[in-house]
Amino acid sequence: MTETFDYDLFVIGAGSGGVRASRIAASHGARVAVAEEFRVGGTCVIRGCVPKKLLVYASHFAHGLEDAAGFGWTIEGKQFDWAKLRDFVASDVDRLERAYTSTLDNNKVDHFHERASVAGPNLVRLASGREIRAKHILIAVGAWPVMPDFPGNEHAITSNEVFHLKAFPKRVVIQGAGYIAMEFAGIFNALGAQVTVVNRSNRILRGYDHDLTERLMAMTEKRGIEYRFDSPICGIEKLADGSLRVALDGHDPIEADVVLVATGRRPKTVGLGLEEAGVKLGANGEVIVDDYGQTSVPSIHAVGDVTDRVQLTPVAIREGHAFADTVFGGKPRTTAYDAIPSAVFSQPPLAAVGLTEMQARDTGAEIKVFTSDFRPMTNMFSTQVERGYYKLVVDAASDKVLGIHMISPEAPEILQAAAIAVKAGLTKADFDATMALHPSMAEELVLMR
Ligand code: FAD
Repeated sequence: MTETFDYDLFVIGAGSGGVRASRIAASHGARVAVAEEFRVGGTCVIRGCVPKKLLVYASHFAHGLEDAAGFGWTIEGKQFDWAKLRDFVASDVDRLERAYTSTLDNNKVDHFHERASVAGPNLVRLASGREIRAKHILIAVGAWPVMPDFPGNEHAITSNEVFHLKAFPKRVVIQGAGYIAMEFAGIFNALGAQVTVVNRSNRILRGYDHDLTERLMAMTEKRGIEYRFDSPICGIEKLADGSLRVALDGHDPIEADVVLVATGRRPKTVGLGLEEAGVKLGANGEVIVDDYGQTSVPSIHAVGDVTDRVQLTPVAIREGHAFADTVFGGKPRTTAYDAIPSAVFSQPPLAAVGLTEMQARDTGAEIKVFTSDFRPMTNMFSTQVERGYYKLVVDAASDKVLGIHMISPEAPEILQAAAIAVKAGLTKADFDATMALHPSMAEELVLMR
Protein backbone atom coordinates (compact mmCIF):
# COMPACT_ATOMS: atom_id res chain seq x y z
CA MET A 1 0.00 0.00 0.00
CA THR A 2 1.43 3.40 -0.88
CA GLU A 3 1.41 5.94 1.92
CA THR A 4 -0.39 9.22 1.33
CA PHE A 5 1.03 12.46 2.68
CA ASP A 6 -0.59 15.85 3.12
CA TYR A 7 2.68 17.51 2.06
CA ASP A 8 5.98 16.48 0.52
CA LEU A 9 7.73 18.79 2.98
CA PHE A 10 6.68 20.25 6.30
CA VAL A 11 9.06 22.91 7.64
CA ILE A 12 9.00 23.86 11.33
CA GLY A 13 10.20 27.46 11.65
CA ALA A 14 9.85 30.27 9.09
CA GLY A 15 13.24 31.88 9.68
CA SER A 16 16.26 32.31 7.40
CA GLY A 17 16.79 28.59 6.76
CA GLY A 18 13.15 27.53 6.78
CA VAL A 19 11.87 30.15 4.35
CA ARG A 20 14.69 29.51 1.88
CA ALA A 21 14.19 25.73 2.03
CA SER A 22 10.39 26.12 1.59
CA ARG A 23 10.72 28.40 -1.40
CA ILE A 24 13.32 26.29 -3.20
CA ALA A 25 11.57 22.98 -2.48
CA ALA A 26 8.31 24.47 -3.84
CA SER A 27 10.16 25.71 -6.94
CA HIS A 28 11.25 22.09 -7.51
CA GLY A 29 7.56 21.09 -7.51
CA ALA A 30 7.17 19.91 -3.90
CA ARG A 31 3.95 20.53 -1.95
CA VAL A 32 5.24 22.51 1.02
CA ALA A 33 3.88 23.87 4.30
CA VAL A 34 5.63 25.76 7.09
CA ALA A 35 4.65 26.42 10.71
CA GLU A 36 5.79 29.55 12.55
CA GLU A 37 5.03 30.16 16.21
CA PHE A 38 6.12 33.82 16.31
CA ARG A 39 6.66 35.96 13.23
CA VAL A 40 7.54 35.03 9.65
CA GLY A 41 11.14 35.97 8.88
CA GLY A 42 12.73 34.51 12.00
CA THR A 43 15.41 35.86 14.30
CA CYS A 44 17.52 37.72 11.74
CA VAL A 45 14.65 39.75 10.35
CA ILE A 46 12.47 40.16 13.44
CA ARG A 47 14.93 40.46 16.35
CA GLY A 48 18.46 39.98 15.09
CA CYS A 49 20.66 41.19 12.24
CA VAL A 50 18.24 43.64 10.64
CA PRO A 51 16.86 45.66 13.58
CA LYS A 52 20.32 45.50 15.19
CA LYS A 53 22.03 46.96 12.12
CA LEU A 54 19.46 49.77 11.97
CA LEU A 55 20.33 50.64 15.58
CA VAL A 56 24.04 50.54 14.69
CA TYR A 57 23.43 52.99 11.83
CA ALA A 58 21.39 55.23 14.12
CA SER A 59 24.14 55.29 16.72
CA HIS A 60 26.83 56.15 14.14
CA PHE A 61 25.24 59.58 13.80
CA ALA A 62 26.24 60.39 17.36
CA HIS A 63 29.95 60.39 16.43
CA GLY A 64 29.31 61.51 12.86
CA LEU A 65 27.59 64.68 13.99
CA GLU A 66 30.48 65.43 16.35
CA ASP A 67 33.09 64.76 13.66
CA ALA A 68 31.18 66.98 11.23
CA ALA A 69 32.42 70.03 13.17
CA GLY A 70 35.98 69.23 12.05
CA PHE A 71 34.76 69.35 8.44
CA GLY A 72 33.22 72.80 8.90
CA TRP A 73 29.66 71.96 9.86
CA THR A 74 27.77 73.59 12.69
CA ILE A 75 24.82 71.54 13.80
CA GLU A 76 22.59 73.20 16.32
CA GLY A 77 19.87 71.63 18.40
CA LYS A 78 20.78 68.00 17.74
CA GLN A 79 18.67 65.65 19.79
CA PHE A 80 18.09 61.93 19.92
CA ASP A 81 14.63 60.42 20.32
CA TRP A 82 14.70 56.71 21.25
CA ALA A 83 10.95 56.21 20.80
CA LYS A 84 11.13 57.54 17.23
CA LEU A 85 14.02 55.23 16.35
CA ARG A 86 12.45 52.19 18.07
CA ASP A 87 9.15 52.71 16.25
CA PHE A 88 10.85 53.26 12.90
CA VAL A 89 12.80 50.03 13.34
CA ALA A 90 9.61 48.19 14.35
CA SER A 91 7.78 49.42 11.26
CA ASP A 92 10.62 48.27 9.01
CA VAL A 93 10.47 44.85 10.67
CA ASP A 94 6.70 44.78 9.90
CA ARG A 95 7.47 45.57 6.26
CA LEU A 96 10.02 42.75 6.07
CA GLU A 97 7.64 40.29 7.68
CA ARG A 98 5.08 41.12 5.00
CA ALA A 99 7.75 40.63 2.31
CA TYR A 100 8.71 37.20 3.68
CA THR A 101 5.04 36.20 3.92
CA SER A 102 4.55 37.22 0.27
CA THR A 103 7.53 35.07 -0.70
CA LEU A 104 5.80 32.06 0.84
CA ASP A 105 2.48 32.94 -0.84
CA ASN A 106 4.07 33.58 -4.23
CA ASN A 107 5.68 30.15 -4.07
CA LYS A 108 2.42 28.49 -2.97
CA VAL A 109 3.81 27.47 0.41
CA ASP A 110 0.99 26.98 2.96
CA HIS A 111 1.70 28.58 6.32
CA PHE A 112 0.35 27.81 9.76
CA HIS A 113 0.77 30.47 12.43
CA GLU A 114 1.21 28.24 15.43
CA ARG A 115 3.75 26.10 17.20
CA ALA A 116 4.49 22.69 15.70
CA SER A 117 6.22 19.62 17.07
CA VAL A 118 7.30 16.27 15.70
CA ALA A 119 4.97 13.36 16.50
CA GLY A 120 6.73 10.71 14.39
CA PRO A 121 9.09 10.29 11.44
CA ASN A 122 6.38 11.57 9.08
CA LEU A 123 3.98 13.27 11.44
CA VAL A 124 3.77 16.88 12.63
CA ARG A 125 1.42 18.02 15.39
CA LEU A 126 0.26 21.64 15.49
CA ALA A 127 -0.54 23.42 18.76
CA SER A 128 -4.22 23.37 17.74
CA GLY A 129 -4.04 19.58 17.84
CA ARG A 130 -4.19 19.10 14.09
CA GLU A 131 -1.89 16.39 12.74
CA ILE A 132 -0.24 16.60 9.35
CA ARG A 133 1.48 13.80 7.46
CA ALA A 134 4.61 14.82 5.57
CA LYS A 135 7.04 12.81 3.47
CA HIS A 136 9.89 14.96 4.80
CA ILE A 137 10.11 17.16 7.87
CA LEU A 138 12.64 20.00 8.12
CA ILE A 139 13.59 21.28 11.57
CA ALA A 140 14.51 24.97 11.21
CA VAL A 141 13.53 26.28 14.65
CA GLY A 142 16.71 28.26 15.31
CA ALA A 143 18.16 29.02 18.73
CA TRP A 144 17.07 30.85 21.87
CA PRO A 145 19.03 33.17 24.21
CA VAL A 146 20.48 31.47 27.26
CA MET A 147 19.52 33.09 30.59
CA PRO A 148 21.93 32.07 33.36
CA ASP A 149 20.41 31.01 36.64
CA PHE A 150 20.89 33.68 39.35
CA PRO A 151 18.51 35.35 41.81
CA GLY A 152 16.63 38.22 40.19
CA ASN A 153 17.30 37.08 36.61
CA GLU A 154 13.66 37.95 35.83
CA HIS A 155 14.79 41.61 35.92
CA ALA A 156 17.29 41.02 33.10
CA ILE A 157 16.41 41.10 29.42
CA THR A 158 17.88 39.34 26.38
CA SER A 159 18.29 40.47 22.79
CA ASN A 160 14.65 39.39 22.27
CA GLU A 161 13.42 42.30 24.38
CA VAL A 162 16.09 44.92 23.71
CA PHE A 163 14.40 46.34 20.61
CA HIS A 164 11.23 47.21 22.53
CA LEU A 165 12.51 49.23 25.51
CA LYS A 166 9.92 51.82 26.63
CA ALA A 167 12.54 54.43 27.52
CA PHE A 168 16.19 54.86 26.61
CA PRO A 169 18.27 53.57 29.56
CA LYS A 170 20.87 55.89 31.08
CA ARG A 171 22.84 52.98 32.59
CA VAL A 172 23.21 49.59 30.94
CA VAL A 173 24.97 46.48 32.21
CA ILE A 174 25.67 43.85 29.57
CA GLN A 175 26.70 40.34 30.53
CA GLY A 176 28.71 38.46 27.90
CA ALA A 177 31.48 39.43 25.52
CA GLY A 178 30.44 37.78 22.29
CA TYR A 179 29.42 39.67 19.18
CA ILE A 180 25.87 40.46 20.31
CA ALA A 181 27.12 41.85 23.65
CA MET A 182 29.81 43.97 21.97
CA GLU A 183 27.40 45.29 19.34
CA PHE A 184 24.84 46.44 21.91
CA ALA A 185 27.61 47.87 24.09
CA GLY A 186 28.60 50.03 21.09
CA ILE A 187 25.00 51.05 20.31
CA PHE A 188 24.11 52.09 23.87
CA ASN A 189 27.46 53.80 24.43
CA ALA A 190 27.21 55.87 21.25
CA LEU A 191 23.61 56.84 22.00
CA GLY A 192 24.69 58.22 25.37
CA ALA A 193 24.22 55.47 27.97
CA GLN A 194 26.81 54.56 30.55
CA VAL A 195 27.73 50.97 29.60
CA THR A 196 29.44 48.28 31.67
CA VAL A 197 30.30 44.92 30.13
CA VAL A 198 30.68 42.10 32.63
CA ASN A 199 32.10 38.77 31.66
CA ARG A 200 32.96 35.42 33.13
CA SER A 201 36.44 35.41 31.49
CA ASN A 202 38.90 38.24 30.85
CA ARG A 203 38.62 38.21 27.05
CA ILE A 204 36.18 39.62 24.54
CA LEU A 205 35.16 38.08 21.22
CA ARG A 206 36.67 34.64 21.62
CA GLY A 207 37.46 33.22 18.17
CA TYR A 208 38.58 36.53 16.68
CA ASP A 209 42.26 37.44 16.28
CA HIS A 210 43.72 38.48 19.60
CA ASP A 211 45.51 41.62 18.29
CA LEU A 212 42.22 42.98 17.00
CA THR A 213 40.14 42.21 20.07
CA GLU A 214 42.79 43.87 22.28
CA ARG A 215 42.61 46.98 20.11
CA LEU A 216 38.83 46.98 20.17
CA MET A 217 38.86 46.77 23.94
CA ALA A 218 41.26 49.70 24.26
CA MET A 219 39.26 51.81 21.81
CA THR A 220 35.90 51.05 23.42
CA GLU A 221 37.35 51.84 26.86
CA LYS A 222 38.44 55.21 25.48
CA ARG A 223 34.90 55.72 24.23
CA GLY A 224 33.67 55.17 27.78
CA ILE A 225 32.66 51.49 27.96
CA GLU A 226 33.72 49.93 31.26
CA TYR A 227 34.65 46.29 31.73
CA ARG A 228 34.39 44.00 34.75
CA PHE A 229 36.16 40.76 34.02
CA ASP A 230 36.18 37.34 35.71
CA SER A 231 32.91 38.34 37.35
CA PRO A 232 29.60 36.89 36.23
CA ILE A 233 26.43 38.48 37.61
CA CYS A 234 25.45 36.71 40.82
CA GLY A 235 22.16 38.50 41.47
CA ILE A 236 19.91 41.43 40.55
CA GLU A 237 17.80 43.33 43.05
CA LYS A 238 15.12 45.83 42.06
CA LEU A 239 15.34 49.00 44.17
CA ALA A 240 12.46 51.23 45.28
CA ASP A 241 13.15 53.79 42.51
CA GLY A 242 13.07 51.05 39.84
CA SER A 243 16.86 50.89 39.44
CA LEU A 244 18.50 47.49 39.30
CA ARG A 245 21.36 46.71 41.66
CA VAL A 246 23.61 44.18 39.94
CA ALA A 247 25.74 42.06 42.28
CA LEU A 248 29.01 40.81 40.78
CA ASP A 249 31.37 38.12 41.94
CA GLY A 250 34.55 39.88 43.12
CA HIS A 251 33.52 43.47 42.22
CA ASP A 252 31.39 46.21 43.75
CA PRO A 253 27.72 46.13 42.72
CA ILE A 254 26.61 48.35 39.82
CA GLU A 255 23.32 50.19 39.48
CA ALA A 256 21.61 50.04 36.13
CA ASP A 257 18.35 50.77 34.34
CA VAL A 258 18.68 47.80 32.00
CA VAL A 259 20.60 44.55 32.35
CA LEU A 260 21.07 42.80 29.02
CA VAL A 261 22.23 39.19 29.13
CA ALA A 262 23.97 38.05 25.95
CA THR A 263 25.74 34.85 26.90
CA GLY A 264 24.95 32.73 23.88
CA ARG A 265 22.06 31.06 22.09
CA ARG A 266 21.03 27.44 22.53
CA PRO A 267 19.21 25.30 19.89
CA LYS A 268 15.45 25.55 20.51
CA THR A 269 14.69 21.84 20.65
CA VAL A 270 13.07 21.52 24.10
CA GLY A 271 9.61 19.94 23.83
CA LEU A 272 9.88 19.47 20.07
CA GLY A 273 9.36 15.68 20.24
CA LEU A 274 12.58 14.96 18.40
CA GLU A 275 14.16 12.41 20.73
CA GLU A 276 10.82 10.58 21.07
CA ALA A 277 10.79 10.30 17.27
CA GLY A 278 14.32 8.86 17.30
CA VAL A 279 16.26 11.99 16.32
CA LYS A 280 19.69 12.17 18.00
CA LEU A 281 20.51 15.41 19.81
CA GLY A 282 23.90 16.65 21.03
CA ALA A 283 24.92 17.84 24.49
CA ASN A 284 23.70 21.40 23.81
CA GLY A 285 20.33 20.18 22.50
CA GLU A 286 21.48 20.59 18.89
CA VAL A 287 20.13 18.33 16.16
CA ILE A 288 22.91 16.12 14.86
CA VAL A 289 22.96 15.99 11.07
CA ASP A 290 25.14 14.65 8.27
CA ASP A 291 26.65 16.80 5.50
CA TYR A 292 23.25 16.94 3.76
CA GLY A 293 21.32 17.99 6.88
CA GLN A 294 19.84 14.52 7.41
CA THR A 295 19.24 13.43 11.02
CA SER A 296 19.34 9.92 12.49
CA VAL A 297 15.75 9.56 11.16
CA PRO A 298 16.00 9.57 7.33
CA SER A 299 12.77 11.54 6.74
CA ILE A 300 13.76 14.31 9.16
CA HIS A 301 16.34 16.97 8.27
CA ALA A 302 17.59 20.08 10.07
CA VAL A 303 19.26 23.34 9.02
CA GLY A 304 20.43 26.56 10.61
CA ASP A 305 21.07 27.53 14.22
CA VAL A 306 19.31 24.44 15.55
CA THR A 307 22.24 22.35 14.32
CA ASP A 308 24.67 24.58 16.28
CA ARG A 309 27.36 24.61 13.62
CA VAL A 310 27.82 28.22 12.51
CA GLN A 311 25.04 30.45 13.86
CA LEU A 312 24.85 33.00 11.04
CA THR A 313 22.04 33.87 8.65
CA PRO A 314 23.87 33.29 5.34
CA VAL A 315 24.88 29.85 6.60
CA ALA A 316 21.28 28.92 7.53
CA ILE A 317 20.15 30.12 4.08
CA ARG A 318 22.82 28.09 2.27
CA GLU A 319 21.98 24.99 4.31
CA GLY A 320 18.25 25.40 3.59
CA HIS A 321 18.92 25.84 -0.13
CA ALA A 322 21.28 22.86 -0.29
CA PHE A 323 18.73 20.68 1.54
CA ALA A 324 15.95 21.58 -0.90
CA ASP A 325 18.17 21.03 -3.97
CA THR A 326 19.35 17.70 -2.57
CA VAL A 327 15.99 16.23 -1.58
CA PHE A 328 13.64 17.81 -4.14
CA GLY A 329 15.85 19.09 -6.96
CA GLY A 330 17.87 15.97 -7.73
CA LYS A 331 21.06 18.00 -7.18
CA PRO A 332 22.78 16.72 -4.02
CA ARG A 333 24.69 19.63 -2.50
CA THR A 334 26.52 20.24 0.74
CA THR A 335 27.46 23.52 2.38
CA ALA A 336 31.12 24.56 2.58
CA TYR A 337 32.15 25.85 5.99
CA ASP A 338 35.61 27.14 5.09
CA ALA A 339 36.28 30.85 4.65
CA ILE A 340 33.00 32.06 6.15
CA PRO A 341 33.33 35.84 6.56
CA SER A 342 31.92 37.35 9.72
CA ALA A 343 31.76 40.75 11.36
CA VAL A 344 31.17 42.35 14.69
CA PHE A 345 29.27 45.61 14.21
CA SER A 346 30.98 47.08 17.22
CA GLN A 347 32.27 50.65 17.16
CA PRO A 348 34.67 50.54 15.40
CA PRO A 349 33.63 47.35 13.61
CA LEU A 350 35.74 44.26 13.24
CA ALA A 351 35.60 41.72 10.41
CA ALA A 352 37.41 38.49 9.63
CA VAL A 353 37.65 35.54 7.29
CA GLY A 354 39.75 32.40 7.49
CA LEU A 355 42.33 31.45 10.09
CA THR A 356 43.48 33.76 12.88
CA GLU A 357 47.23 34.00 13.43
CA MET A 358 46.94 31.63 16.41
CA GLN A 359 44.79 29.08 14.54
CA ALA A 360 47.25 29.12 11.63
CA ARG A 361 50.23 28.60 13.97
CA ASP A 362 48.38 25.74 15.66
CA THR A 363 48.24 23.86 12.35
CA GLY A 364 52.04 23.54 12.60
CA ALA A 365 52.55 25.10 9.17
CA GLU A 366 55.04 27.91 8.75
CA ILE A 367 53.20 31.18 8.30
CA LYS A 368 53.96 34.81 7.51
CA VAL A 369 52.01 37.65 9.03
CA PHE A 370 51.62 41.07 7.38
CA THR A 371 50.02 44.00 9.15
CA SER A 372 49.01 47.55 8.40
CA ASP A 373 48.44 50.02 11.24
CA PHE A 374 47.03 53.19 9.70
CA ARG A 375 45.03 56.30 10.43
CA PRO A 376 41.81 56.25 8.41
CA MET A 377 41.23 59.54 6.60
CA THR A 378 37.63 59.60 7.80
CA ASN A 379 38.94 59.94 11.36
CA MET A 380 41.27 62.85 10.50
CA PHE A 381 39.20 65.51 12.24
CA SER A 382 37.60 63.20 14.76
CA THR A 383 37.87 63.70 18.48
CA GLN A 384 38.48 59.93 18.67
CA VAL A 385 41.76 59.38 16.85
CA GLU A 386 41.22 55.67 16.26
CA ARG A 387 43.64 53.81 14.05
CA GLY A 388 42.73 51.04 11.63
CA TYR A 389 44.54 47.71 11.71
CA TYR A 390 44.57 44.96 9.08
CA LYS A 391 46.32 41.63 9.27
CA LEU A 392 46.99 39.03 6.58
CA VAL A 393 47.92 35.50 7.62
CA VAL A 394 49.82 33.78 4.82
CA ASP A 395 51.02 30.19 4.38
CA ALA A 396 54.80 30.48 3.89
CA ALA A 397 55.11 27.44 1.63
CA SER A 398 52.25 28.10 -0.81
CA ASP A 399 51.97 31.90 -0.34
CA LYS A 400 48.17 31.43 0.01
CA VAL A 401 46.32 33.98 2.13
CA LEU A 402 44.80 31.91 4.94
CA GLY A 403 43.08 34.69 6.83
CA ILE A 404 42.23 38.40 6.77
CA HIS A 405 41.44 40.33 9.95
CA MET A 406 40.39 43.96 10.01
CA ILE A 407 39.35 46.61 12.48
CA SER A 408 38.46 49.96 10.92
CA PRO A 409 35.47 51.95 9.76
CA GLU A 410 33.68 49.99 7.01
CA ALA A 411 35.71 46.82 7.74
CA PRO A 412 32.69 44.50 7.15
CA GLU A 413 31.96 46.09 3.75
CA ILE A 414 35.58 45.72 2.65
CA LEU A 415 36.00 42.22 4.03
CA GLN A 416 33.06 40.75 2.09
CA ALA A 417 34.94 41.47 -1.16
CA ALA A 418 38.30 40.36 0.23
CA ALA A 419 36.73 37.06 1.37
CA ILE A 420 36.38 36.09 -2.31
CA ALA A 421 40.16 36.08 -2.57
CA VAL A 422 40.57 33.82 0.47
CA LYS A 423 37.82 31.46 -0.74
CA ALA A 424 39.48 31.34 -4.17
CA GLY A 425 42.85 30.46 -2.59
CA LEU A 426 44.64 33.55 -3.93
CA THR A 427 48.21 34.24 -2.85
CA LYS A 428 49.91 37.18 -1.21
CA ALA A 429 51.59 37.76 -4.60
CA ASP A 430 48.10 38.17 -6.13
CA PHE A 431 47.32 40.80 -3.50
CA ASP A 432 50.65 42.56 -4.22
CA ALA A 433 49.97 42.50 -7.97
CA THR A 434 46.60 44.20 -7.52
CA MET A 435 46.70 47.95 -8.08
CA ALA A 436 45.67 50.06 -5.09
CA LEU A 437 42.47 52.12 -5.20
CA HIS A 438 43.51 55.45 -3.78
CA PRO A 439 42.58 57.05 -1.47
CA SER A 440 40.71 54.33 0.38
CA MET A 441 41.13 52.24 3.51
CA ALA A 442 40.77 49.05 1.46
CA GLU A 443 44.00 49.81 -0.42
CA GLU A 444 45.91 48.83 2.71
CA LEU A 445 45.05 45.23 1.78
CA VAL A 446 47.28 45.36 -1.29
CA LEU A 447 50.04 47.55 0.17
CA MET A 448 51.31 45.32 2.99
CA ARG A 449 54.95 44.41 2.49
P1 FAD B 1 15.66 31.52 12.94
O1 FAD B 1 15.87 32.63 11.98
O2 FAD B 1 15.81 31.80 14.38
O3 FAD B 1 14.21 30.96 12.66
C1 FAD B 1 13.61 29.98 13.46
C2 FAD B 1 12.12 30.23 13.49
O4 FAD B 1 11.46 29.10 14.03
C3 FAD B 1 11.73 31.41 14.38
O5 FAD B 1 10.94 32.32 13.65
C4 FAD B 1 10.94 30.77 15.52
O6 FAD B 1 9.90 31.58 16.01
C5 FAD B 1 10.39 29.52 14.84
N1 FAD B 1 10.09 28.42 15.76
C6 FAD B 1 10.84 27.93 16.76
N2 FAD B 1 10.27 26.85 17.31
C7 FAD B 1 9.12 26.65 16.63
C8 FAD B 1 8.08 25.66 16.71
N3 FAD B 1 8.16 24.66 17.58
N4 FAD B 1 7.02 25.76 15.88
C9 FAD B 1 6.95 26.77 14.97
N5 FAD B 1 7.90 27.71 14.84
C10 FAD B 1 8.97 27.64 15.64
N6 FAD B 1 23.53 36.57 11.90
C11 FAD B 1 24.23 37.15 10.91
O7 FAD B 1 24.58 36.46 9.93
N7 FAD B 1 24.60 38.48 10.96
C12 FAD B 1 24.24 39.27 12.00
O8 FAD B 1 24.57 40.47 12.02
C13 FAD B 1 23.47 38.70 13.06
N8 FAD B 1 23.06 39.46 14.09
C14 FAD B 1 22.29 38.90 15.06
C15 FAD B 1 21.88 39.70 16.12
C16 FAD B 1 21.10 39.18 17.13
C17 FAD B 1 20.64 40.08 18.25
C18 FAD B 1 20.72 37.79 17.08
C19 FAD B 1 19.88 37.20 18.17
C20 FAD B 1 21.13 36.99 16.03
C21 FAD B 1 21.92 37.53 15.02
N9 FAD B 1 22.37 36.76 13.96
C22 FAD B 1 23.13 37.32 12.96
C23 FAD B 1 22.10 35.30 13.89
C24 FAD B 1 20.94 34.98 12.94
O9 FAD B 1 19.80 35.69 13.32
C25 FAD B 1 20.67 33.49 12.94
O10 FAD B 1 21.86 32.79 12.66
C26 FAD B 1 19.61 33.09 11.90
O11 FAD B 1 18.41 33.77 12.11
C27 FAD B 1 19.39 31.57 11.95
O12 FAD B 1 18.37 31.20 11.08
P2 FAD B 1 17.50 29.91 11.38
O13 FAD B 1 16.63 29.72 10.17
O14 FAD B 1 18.35 28.79 11.80
O15 FAD B 1 16.61 30.29 12.65
